Amino acid sequence: MAIIDCPSCNKKVSDKAKECSHCQQSLIDIDNDKIKQLQRIARLKQSQSLMNFSFIAMLLFCGGFLMLFWRDTLPNSLEYILSVSATIIGFILYIVTRVRILFLKRSK
Ligand SMILES: [Zn+2]
Repeated sequence: MAIIDCPSCNKKVSDKAKECSHCQQSLIDIDNDKIKQLQRIARLKQSQSLMNFSFIAMLLFCGGFLMLFWRDTLPNSLEYILSVSATIIGFILYIVTRVRILFLKRSK
């Protein structure tokens, strides 16, 4: 018995399994074309969710940034700490997500 990657969700499944235990993709009667097609769909879904994620990170960053400068937040107040954290976390998440998108595109 060997462990293979599910062609649909890329999680580890047994090669003896009739279907993937994670996404219920049938693993019998599956040819190379079908695998390629499923991998393309999986990659598309992954890049789509990364795009959504980078959008959320961007919103977090902008939200924190705007709150910091539009409102007169006092340094060391809770509001100030929250906006600074949102800005920093949003920025880091955005960069990380963009890099992941870049790698995903490059591995095509
Ligand atoms: Zn699967």
